[in-house]
Amino acid sequence: MMKNLLATALALLATSAFAEYPEKAVTIVIPFAAGGPTDKVGRDFAEAVRKPLGGQAVVIDNVAGAGGTLGASKVARATPDGYTLLITHIGMATSPALYRNLQFKPLEDFEYLGLINEVPMTLISRPTLAANNYAELATWIQANKGKVNIANAGLGSASHMCGMLLQSTLKADMTPVPYKGTAPAMNDLLGGQVDIMCDQTTNTTGQIEAKKVKAFAVTTPKRLNIPALAALPTLDEAGLKGFNVTIWHALYAPKGTPKAVLDKINAALKVALKDGTFIKNEESLGAVVAVDARINPVDHKKFVEAEINRWTPLIKANGQYAD
Ligand code: ASP
Repeated sequence: MMKNLLATALALLATSAFAEYPEKAVTIVIPFAAGGPTDKVGRDFAEAVRKPLGGQAVVIDNVAGAGGTLGASKVARATPDGYTLLITHIGMATSPALYRNLQFKPLEDFEYLGLINEVPMTLISRPTLAANNYAELATWIQANKGKVNIANAGLGSASHMCGMLLQSTLKADMTPVPYKGTAPAMNDLLGGQVDIMCDQTTNTTGQIEAKKVKAFAVTTPKRLNIPALAALPTLDEAGLKGFNVTIWHALYAPKGTPKAVLDKINAALKVALKDGTFIKNEESLGAVVAVDARINPVDHKKFVEAEINRWTPLIKANGQYAD
């Protein structure tokens, strides 16, 4: 009886201590370089969530490196008070199979808040590459065995996973070149320092439209219906049967964040994902904003578990690891 009363009193105390949340700026850690696709969704989301979160500033902190795992570890160790959050992508599901010394446990060290969006990827190349469609690209890759560079945002990143799948389906040997995000990778692709890259449409659409890069295919099972990308075949159509990579982003808090705070963030997340400007920004670049049924901790966690189960065997079969 005494014990129960004490637990209730402590819970009430914890709730009232956070009743005014947020009382100061909230930081969202983006574990990739500024200017890239994860950063873009983070910044657009920060703008959309500011009002529903009570009008406090929502600040982006780019903690880039090691395929997004540095930023995720920082949030896993942050004070669980709702003032440090994380937006990351598929890396949450790929990193456990890839990193021998991962500094966090994806399913144990975070509070899951909900999915934000899904984004297709495109296969692109430097503008000077001598191929104008996917068939020519595949021939060029085979003809240049051992010499082809493929850019990515580090082990476990979306671009790495897409590239890994591409290499293994093509049975082609390419040299992965890791960056702290696909914003710096894109700069090198534009400058011709690397040959090809697989990256989210939220980073590539503008460059494809401006013809600054060559685009060969989309990674989704269906073609995209945004004007700049509608003519691109799917990789499945182009000959890589069953190829399907879609990237998702989601919101997390450190484990132990009080329930009252999580509820407020989750409610704000739901409102932000209905924001007209946010939806327009995302959809114009081929992304699909999550709908209600997926914006909750239970479904978000189930989804990440399913993604871990989907990627782990593929990663193990390709024998790629990092410390
Ligand atoms: N697009 C990146 C990736 O390949 C991450 C980023 O730079 O936002 O995972």
